[in-house]
Amino acid sequence: MENKKSIRGVQITDAIRKELEDAGKSRVLTFKDRKGKQYLAHIEVGSDKLMVVPEGKYLEHRCPHCGGRIKITSKGYFCEHYFDKTDACKWHCNGILSHRFILLHEIEAYLDGHPTVLDGCFNSQGRIFSAVLVESEVYGMSLSSVVGKCPVCGEDVMVSPVAFNCSCHEKLGEPYHLTLWRHIRGHEVTLDELRELLTDGITKKEVMLMDDKGSLSKAYLRLSDDRKRIVADYNIYN
Ligand SMILES: [Zn+2]
Ligand SMILES: [Zn+2]
Repeated sequence: MENKKSIRGVQITDAIRKELEDAGKSRVLTFKDRKGKQYLAHIEVGSDKLMVVPEGKYLEHRCPHCGGRIKITSKGYFCEHYFDKTDACKWHCNGILSHRFILLHEIEAYLDGHPTVLDGCFNSQGRIFSAVLVESEVYGMSLSSVVGKCPVCGEDVMVSPVAFNCSCHEKLGEPYHLTLWRHIRGHEVTLDELRELLTDGITKKEVMLMDDKGSLSKAYLRLSDDRKRIVADYNIYN
């Protein structure tokens, strides 16, 4: 075996040498590339010399279909069984949807069941829109602006860059009978909170809101009686 003292910034200690002799590969170690950037890899004993083999990078959450790991590639996020010859799992999310990068924490949040609104997407006509990740029939992820059902008329609620709006403005003859601003007194309304507002009319947990004096206070978010806006409920039990 090659008798190197260190390889790409990692000392070959006696312990590592023993792992290489016993198993032909080392534990996972942190290496430095030529630009000094750190990366995870292990050492393997090649035919005549030691090789540094980078670890595949995976998401923290697993594939929602098969439980496999999800690989981070230059094209996006792919179930590790995507390229299997038999029984392949086709779950994947392209790294760019509607001209927008899908960032690591955004796909993790979706897989965690607490998705976030993705702003700054734009369609082929150049119109900017906001959306959430949804799974399409072919097991790929795509974008949709539908985020719930309107408690007034039952139609879809859509997310826009500034508000959550009912999609049927005109049908009931009352335009914008449901328009909920996404920012309330300094608080950004999450999709979990929106879901609670649409089903129960009030959030389960308190949030921190700016009160009339300009200081932060705990409050529940509640739908106003006309359901046109979100109001702060500072004293729910009084
Ligand atoms: Zn899978
Ligand atoms: Zn409606």
